[in-house]
Amino acid sequence: MNPRTLLRHVSVALALAVVAHAAPQRTLLLEVADVPKAEQVKGGRFFYGDYDSSRIIQVVRNRALLLATPEELAELRQAGYAPKVLFESTDRLQLYRRAEYGPEMKLSPVYWRYDQILKKAAALARAYPNLITRFQIGETQQEHRPIYAFRISNQAAQPQDRPKVLFDGVHHADELMGAQIVTALMEQLVTGYGRDKAVTAWLDTLEIYLVPVVNVDGHHVVTSGHDPRWRKNTHDVNGDGVTGVYPEGVDPNRNYNFNWAMGGTDNKEGSSYRGPYPFSESEIRAMRDLAEQVHPTLAVSYHSQGEVIYYPWSWGGKASPDDAVIARVAKEVASHLVKMDGSGPYAVSPGGPSSQSYAWYYGHLGIVSMIIETGLGAHVLPPEEVAGIVQTNLQGARALLAQAAGPGLSLRVKDAATGAPLQAEVWLPRIDDETIDRRTSDATFGRVHRLLNPGEYYVVVSRPGYATQVLPAVKIGPAGWTAVEVALTKN
Ligand SMILES: [Zn+2]
Repeated sequence: MNPRTLLRHVSVALALAVVAHAAPQRTLLLEVADVPKAEQVKGGRFFYGDYDSSRIIQVVRNRALLLATPEELAELRQAGYAPKVLFESTDRLQLYRRAEYGPEMKLSPVYWRYDQILKKAAALARAYPNLITRFQIGETQQEHRPIYAFRISNQAAQPQDRPKVLFDGVHHADELMGAQIVTALMEQLVTGYGRDKAVTAWLDTLEIYLVPVVNVDGHHVVTSGHDPRWRKNTHDVNGDGVTGVYPEGVDPNRNYNFNWAMGGTDNKEGSSYRGPYPFSESEIRAMRDLAEQVHPTLAVSYHSQGEVIYYPWSWGGKASPDDAVIARVAKEVASHLVKMDGSGPYAVSPGGPSSQSYAWYYGHLGIVSMIIETGLGAHVLPPEEVAGIVQTNLQGARALLAQAAGPGLSLRVKDAATGAPLQAEVWLPRIDDETIDRRTSDATFGRVHRLLNPGEYYVVVSRPGYATQVLPAVKIGPAGWTAVEVALTKN
């Protein structure tokens, strides 16, 4: 931030402070150490709502951090609680900084900044040049910072004709766990090759793509210590030339073009502002282009919080055409994810079919995709919780990678005359319905890897200008990929 911007920040903050005087202002930051579980649920006194931190900032285990007026403090005492006043200020941002960053008022070094992640990746690439390759997938909307992806395999320098798995983190700026998990996964995969049997097999047979931070600008707002509440990107949507003033920006995870208008809100101040049109944000165009080029079979997007996996979908109560496969995979991954309090595995739930990454990845490209809401009770989770959440999510990532072995259909389409790979529609009319876009093979290899439960499938391969081929009974075995070659002849 340059000094001129800082000055504007200050004046805007003052202007907001004047307006805020109209309502009773919460100037106290309280800690309540022993919140009963019964008060942490919806309707309870200490319910942690995902997007409304006007009162409750976090409830982690039994410790709540909340904002209060002096009257609310008195009420809590009367109700038998023993709230401790941690901080007092008329500056809201300072209250949030104290709550989320702790007494130091800056982010714990347990959390990675983006430059540290890139440094770590560069060191891995120097030590293991065959196993990891970095490439730029785009730049951020507002600050034009580069966004990087990493390809991991035993021949990482070049794309390989293999099943692909994509992991990403930090669509939402304050959901820092995604960057922690994806970076830890990067290290585990690269350093585990040749030592860890499963990792070695994955790098030999799959291609793994990692995007540790999608929303690089927003992540910087949080990790730099400016504003721990930041969720969206930093797009100057009101065009006033001032950035970094909460709650400006577009919600990157409401900007995908699948039922875009059904997701988020068109209110620019809203925490889930979907943007002016689908794929308006360069961060999300970068993810779109990566997914369309790579055609992953499986994908996970890490968020916080809730200890739940959302997968596609429940659309007006109707499950997705591939529900039998996707629900099975989601449940398998969740069974490896242990909640912070050790009480059991993460929950699994079909999510809505709109505008979020998993809906587009699945609905448009056929990717078995999910969002994992890591941790519970905060977006910026207390530093002492980070290692445990990363460890269990590494187990979940391994469970997902194991799913890339099939069973399923590995179909390659080529031109009968030239042998060149063809991007063609590869569809299963008895499964695929009008709610999803037609699945295709990828442009590079003419390949599609589609996870299927064992059984017999009716497959249609078509491309304009070529004679359509129908495979009326493709048998998918109980394990592994069933390889099928299809040569299309020009009309
Ligand atoms: Zn999120």
